[in-house]
Amino acid sequence: MAGVEVAAPAIASCATWGAAAARGTIDTVSANPNKILIHHTASANVTDYSQAAGYQIARDIQQWHFANGWVDTGQHLTVSRGGYVMEGRHGSLSRLQNGSGTVVGAHAPGQNSQAIGIENQGTYTSATPPAQLWSRLVELCAYICDQYGIAPTQIYGHRDYTATACPGDVLYSMLPQLRSEVAAALAGTSWSVIVDNTSAGFSAGSSWLTSSFSAERYGADYRYATPAEVSDLATYTATIPSSGSYRVEAWFPGIAGYNTSTPFIVYTGTGSSTIRVDQSAAGGAWLSLGTYAMTAGTRTVVAVSRWTQGTAYVVADAIRITRL
Ligand SMILES: [Zn+2]
Repeated sequence: MAGVEVAAPAIASCATWGAAAARGTIDTVSANPNKILIHHTASANVTDYSQAAGYQIARDIQQWHFANGWVDTGQHLTVSRGGYVMEGRHGSLSRLQNGSGTVVGAHAPGQNSQAIGIENQGTYTSATPPAQLWSRLVELCAYICDQYGIAPTQIYGHRDYTATACPGDVLYSMLPQLRSEVAAALAGTSWSVIVDNTSAGFSAGSSWLTSSFSAERYGADYRYATPAEVSDLATYTATIPSSGSYRVEAWFPGIAGYNTSTPFIVYTGTGSSTIRVDQSAAGGAWLSLGTYAMTAGTRTVVAVSRWTQGTAYVVADAIRITRL
C-alpha cells in the first residue's frame, strides 16, 4: 500500500449513515484502481448543509440505485454539499483504507472495476459546488491517490467515458483545478510505496518458486529462482506520482547460500541501472539500491534478474520507493 502521510478525511461508513443491506453479491477486484471519476448526483442543490441531510440523501441515492436493479449504491464514495464524506457501495471504505483492491461499482460502464467513482451531491450544470464540498473533495482525492498510487492526472469526469452531462459543465470545468490542488496536497507530503511479491504490481514467471522458509521475509513469503542466462524477470510495477528524486530499496531474507551477485534493475522512465546485490547476508531490512531521478507514470520500476553466475538462488521479495 502507499504511505499514509496524506491525512484521510473523516469518511462515514455505510453503517454510520444507515445504508440498507446490499441486495446481492458485490464483486471485488484485487488490482488497485487506476483513476478517479467525478460525478454529480443531479439531485437538488439543498441549502441544508447538515450531516443529517447528507446522510438522508445518501440513503435516497441507494434506493434510486436499487430501483435501477443494482445490488447496492453504484459509486464508491459520496460527498455532501456540507462536506460530509460517506462510503458508497459496501466494502469500498475498508479496501481504500487498506490501499489494496476495490469493489466493482456501478457508476460508469467499462470503468467500474478500475475507476473509483465519487458522487457529489447536487447539480453542477450552472451552480458552483459549495466550498465545504470542494475542500473535502480535494482531501478525499489526495487520500485516494496516496492510498492506491494513482497520479493526480488520472482524475476525470464521468462524461470523459460515457455520453452524459455528468458531472455538470461547471464541475467538469473545475477538474483541472482539482487535479492541481490534489497534486499540491500530495507534494506537501512525503510519498512512499511498497510493492511486495504478493502485491498486484508484482509479476514473475513459473520458474520463480514461492517460499516462506526464512523468517527475514517481508510479508507472508517471497519468490526465488535458480540463476540462468535467460530473460525471465521478476518485476515490480508502481506509479511514480511526479517527476523527481526517489530512493529505491529492496527487502529480502539474507541467507548464506543465496546469491552473492543478484542483478536488480531500476527503471527511471528514461533509462535503467543494474545493481548487484549480495543476498547471502544483510537481509530482513531495507537495503538501498540508490537514489534516482524518475519521471512520473505507471511502469515496471524494479526488476530482479536470474542472469547471474553460480547456482545459489536469486530472491525477489519486496521493494520500497520513497520520494525525496
Ligand atoms: Zn456520473
